[in-house]
Amino acid sequence: MNMILLGPPGAGKGTQAQNIVRDYGLVQLSTGDMLRQSVASGSALGQQLKAVLDAGELVSDTIMIEMIADRIAQPDCKAGFILDGFPRTNEQAVALDALLDEKGLNLDHVIEMAVDDAALTERVTGRYTCAKCGAGYHDNFQKPQKDGVCDGCGGSEFTRRSDDNAETVANRLKEFHEKTAPIIHYYRQKGRLSQVDGMAAIEVVTAQISTILNGGGARV
Ligand code: ADP
Ligand code: ADP
Ligand code: ZN
Repeated sequence: MNMILLGPPGAGKGTQAQNIVRDYGLVQLSTGDMLRQSVASGSALGQQLKAVLDAGELVSDTIMIEMIADRIAQPDCKAGFILDGFPRTNEQAVALDALLDEKGLNLDHVIEMAVDDAALTERVTGRYTCAKCGAGYHDNFQKPQKDGVCDGCGGSEFTRRSDDNAETVANRLKEFHEKTAPIIHYYRQKGRLSQVDGMAAIEVVTAQISTILNGGGARV
């Protein structure tokens, strides 16, 4: 099974992708994580990417399409994958269709996570991640059971993204509405789109997604 989680920054794509990995054994392909790894490597390309990410702009389609083509070609993707953060433009969506066609792969689900803009800034600015295992948390909405200790691995070091500040988020949201929202219509027209209420509590959203993946729920 191959699928896309589609939604604005802070919609809950990463959070739900981690649950789908746990429940369905798919591989999570987060283009944001791939880009941040490239930044962390300190390469010349990484330095250029950091400037784009911190401005809240989109990285070029050429770079992103090549990155995802390379990743999908790796053997672990045979188990099925969740695209988290890709495609983000019409050009990327068209290129993905061509890539999947060429490889004879299906796109089984495109799930839109709908969240009001007003909720997103708080979601993003309160987000943090376990430095050891990557589990996601939130200052108000998803605290670890024991303060300062990761539920998943017991780690006590956490990181925050440099682009998760109110100013950059405003630009990321603008980019989403201008360039990414149109692809919702692209998938709706193709009859492949399902929708969940991303404003609901995390476990409610997980249940809605499970219903869709298990073959229930109407296409919108
Ligand atoms: P995305 O990957 O779409 O940018 P995340 O999954 O990282 O979003 O979620 C953003 C932040 O909001 C995280 O700190 C996460 O814990 C929190 N969060 C995710 N889903 C919900 C939800 N349904 N309700 C409240 N907070 C949520
Ligand atoms: P979020 O979790 O807030 O949705 P991501 O981690 O997916 O953010 O992406 C972080 C940043 O990485 C984006 O603001 C953008 O600069 C860049 N990026 C990630 N995926 C793509 C993509 N498919 N196309 C262009 N830029 C991307
Ligand atoms: Zn951890």
